[in-house]
Amino acid sequence: MNIRALRRHLPSQGTERSEKLADKLLRGDKLQGELRGQAMEQLTTVPEPWLERLEGEGLAYVALGYHDDLSQTDLITSYDPDRLRIEAKEARKLSSKVQVDVENELKADLEAETDDFRRHMLERGKVDLLKERLAAELDAHNLGFAIRVTRDLTPLQFIEGENGIVAGQFDDYGPPSETERDLFREVLLELNGQEAVADAGSDPKGYHLADDATLEPANDILLIPYKMYGKKRLSEVSKASYSSINGMLMDQHMGAHYWPNRLIVMDDEVAVLPSTKTGNHSVLLHETGHAIDYIAEKIDGQNHRETIDRMYKEDMELAKSGDDRFLTDRARDNAREYFAEAVEAYLTQPVEDEAWYKQENHYVALQEGNPRLYEYVDTLMKLPAIAKDQ
Ligand SMILES: [Zn+2]
Repeated sequence: MNIRALRRHLPSQGTERSEKLADKLLRGDKLQGELRGQAMEQLTTVPEPWLERLEGEGLAYVALGYHDDLSQTDLITSYDPDRLRIEAKEARKLSSKVQVDVENELKADLEAETDDFRRHMLERGKVDLLKERLAAELDAHNLGFAIRVTRDLTPLQFIEGENGIVAGQFDDYGPPSETERDLFREVLLELNGQEAVADAGSDPKGYHLADDATLEPANDILLIPYKMYGKKRLSEVSKASYSSINGMLMDQHMGAHYWPNRLIVMDDEVAVLPSTKTGNHSVLLHETGHAIDYIAEKIDGQNHRETIDRMYKEDMELAKSGDDRFLTDRARDNAREYFAEAVEAYLTQPVEDEAWYKQENHYVALQEGNPRLYEYVDTLMKLPAIAKDQ
């Protein structure tokens, strides 16, 4: 062990099995070499049964450099052709159903309307309604295809350009559906049906859509297969959300957890300990504290949420009367930060000469300053693993 600030006192810390588990948890191409070793040491300080639970949740730890964003990491897997084909079929069914439903709903209104202008407005409103309903359906079925309103005759190549599909060098020689362009066209047809095609163009391969094809979807709604981004096929939806998690954001916040996505992201510069930005404060352990908080909530009989919320509330009251048991300002923010800071403190030991940032957050200070919270975290850290055969 090279990191002095880490506290290891339990037999369940730093085990061989822990290293295997940590190895699965640390992802992304930034966590390699020295950074990986550093992150590994911090993560294997978490007791093994907890690493087991974190791994069971499918959690991933990623570090991002200033110019990186999540969609560029190897964590985000590109759509593979088979998955695209399967999901396109599913989306096509949903789309057809939504169109029939909306048609039926508006039919009566349209028939009753005699004024041309108002009929036109109803028709336009139909597109918005379709888009809204379809988006909700796709979302409910976890399908990431983007919906594009396409009112006019639109060249296929225009749609391809918008989505980063460029003609490859071998496109005209390769067998059908083995090039990016062919795959995009195949899935586009699968999603929208032949009826979305105004003119299939003059295809030299007699297959799919030709370069000069034009599109005109029946209800002005076109489903888009995917977008090429950093050599990956991403859905528009995932591209937008993954790109929003980037190195610049981490530079400001050092680290963040996205529990619904089972994701912990760190600034690459704070993956080492001590770091020039945060001294001996382990961002990795703090964010892990949040993950443990969410998992502990689900453990039967633990009453974790109630316990932490109550302790936090009581400590807030005590602080008002001058008995301040919070080790850090962050811990004061809310019950979740209170717990995450306590987990970090429990796994940290005082290092006098190197400490300058959150230097008060270590186990000795927690044990002395808030023995009740220390006891609770201690019990939790010593929980045995869940039985495998359950
Ligand atoms: Zn936090």
